[in-house]
Amino acid sequence: MEKATLKDLNIESREDVLRFLKRLWRQEKTPCPICSAALEPLHKKAKKSDCDWQCRNCGKVFRTIHLLDELNALSGEKSCV
Ligand SMILES: [Zn+2]
Repeated sequence: MEKATLKDLNIESREDVLRFLKRLWRQEKTPCPICSAALEPLHKKAKKSDCDWQCRNCGKVFRTIHLLDELNALSGEKSCV
């Protein structure tokens, strides 16, 4: 399993990245931005606070907090998500 970075997501705009992350936080069914397969919670017994997801198809792990950090570092501003 490899950790996905912002670059891997291939999402152009900051807003679209946030939309993607928010879907994961709400635990909505979300397709993998890389291969379009359905993402699954990384941990089987996902708690509500659990926000890491994985794609079984391309083997990427999506750590939402890490991705948010990366996004904030890029834009140089603090987000209030
Ligand atoms: Zn995938």
